[in-house]
Amino acid sequence: MALSPDLPTVIIIGRPNVGKSTLWNRLVGKKLALVDDQPGVTRDRRMGDAHLLGLDFTIVDTAGWEDEDAATLPGRMRKQTEASLEGADVALFVIDARAGLTPLDEEIGRYLRESTVPIVVIANKAEGKAGDHGLFEAFSLGLGDPVALSAEHGEGMADLFDALLPHLDEGQRARDEEVIVDEEEDEEALNRAPLKLAIVGRPNAGKSTLINALLQEDRLLTGPEAGITRDSIAVDWQWTDPDSGEVRPVRLIDTAGMRKKALVVDKLEKMAVADARHAIDFAEVVVLLLDATRGLEHQDLKIASMVLEEGRALLVAINKWDVAEDASGLFNGIRAALDEGLAQVKGLPVLAVSARTGKGLDTLLKAAFEVRAAWSKRVPTGLLNRWFDEVLAKNPPPAPGGKRIKLRYITQAKIRPPGFVMFGTRLDDLPMSYQRYLVNGIRRDLGFDAVPVRLTLRSAK
Ligand code: GDP
Ligand code: GDP
Repeated sequence: MALSPDLPTVIIIGRPNVGKSTLWNRLVGKKLALVDDQPGVTRDRRMGDAHLLGLDFTIVDTAGWEDEDAATLPGRMRKQTEASLEGADVALFVIDARAGLTPLDEEIGRYLRESTVPIVVIANKAEGKAGDHGLFEAFSLGLGDPVALSAEHGEGMADLFDALLPHLDEGQRARDEEVIVDEEEDEEALNRAPLKLAIVGRPNAGKSTLINALLQEDRLLTGPEAGITRDSIAVDWQWTDPDSGEVRPVRLIDTAGMRKKALVVDKLEKMAVADARHAIDFAEVVVLLLDATRGLEHQDLKIASMVLEEGRALLVAINKWDVAEDASGLFNGIRAALDEGLAQVKGLPVLAVSARTGKGLDTLLKAAFEVRAAWSKRVPTGLLNRWFDEVLAKNPPPAPGGKRIKLRYITQAKIRPPGFVMFGTRLDDLPMSYQRYLVNGIRRDLGFDAVPVRLTLRSAK
């Protein structure tokens, strides 16, 4: 086994079954068999050359406790971990985000807090929503922000890279120049990935006309492509930003187009919600198209709240602006009705367009790219907490029964959509209205206008 002695050493720690070997395999890649066959490499310390987006290091897995007697496990783990920590540059402390924190995790956390080796907490098995709870719990270990990872599916590797980089040496940093970060969080990569856009709304709002107008305007049409589902078509095309001249890829979903021919109008009304649901599964950004000659109707609100509940970015566009009467009254009326009808989300962006004349279509696309960027961004913890201190100072949390609720700290744990975790004490008593004050503040002050923001509360220990 050609281990390079000059590389930094990263050690993987954690109780059995959290995914340490899976992570080790992912970082080492094909060398797995070679390492296992190597005589003299003990079962409980596997070493390998790891590669992560251009970072090279030696990775050590402290596996091998699977057959251990449960009573002696903690003691033996501790001894071995302490021995492995000596000489390590960083330790990855892996927990199972699906299972949540166990007493053994907490015990390991306690002695890692005493260690001088930098620790990165890994909330593994975090693919999908099932890992959210464990990810949030992992903050309470007091070992810094956990990295959400799926070792099995390879998700979150760019976050792991970000977390490791500061702890590895200067030589590593130089190599970092050539690194290709391929995750959605990276801004350039994001701009290269097609914007997944859906246009939803009631029948006759002008969805088909709008889609045709967008596609016809652009000669670089590369679709249509075979269906995403039986009832929808995805079309890949390129939008040219008229201001910068940049050409940007868009993948548009057309759910309603096919139904239209088959169904009568009152059935279509009912299908609008089902179509929107389809579109939401697919899209990053959803445009809710309203009809200027009809205004905002109940079903529009229903679709809008569904989009936000599903965590997608939402733009509202009023179509048929060319035939709108009392344009400013209409516009303000719709804004007010949205604010009232969607009590959780104030100040959604509203645009005026005409699919027929082409008015406002470039502005709509520009806005869609902007809200996707917001939906995908992470606010640095320092900046976030400076903001947090200010809003708390301006309007302190209430003191129900004379006892103060303490809000300590906030961090952004997720993107796409953004999710925040706030730590404090007596959080069960924090009124919904105050939580809304914070969520609206995040949206307004930190650039999440069109984006649903989630806030989770965790008791600080
Ligand atoms: P170790 O004992 O900590 O080395 O854990 P293993 O790597 O052997 O993994 C334990 C189990 O968790 C195995 O069944 C893996 O397939 C599974 N596993 C590992 N990583 C992931 C992950 O990211 N997601 C899910 N869902 N399962 C995982
Ligand atoms: P869909 O059911 O949402 O796909 O709606 P369509 O695209 O079929 O449009 C319904 C009707 O509205 C058609 O008669 C269109 O010509 C008309 N329409 C669509 N967009 C506009 C627009 O911007 N201005 C005007 N005046 N009419 C429009």
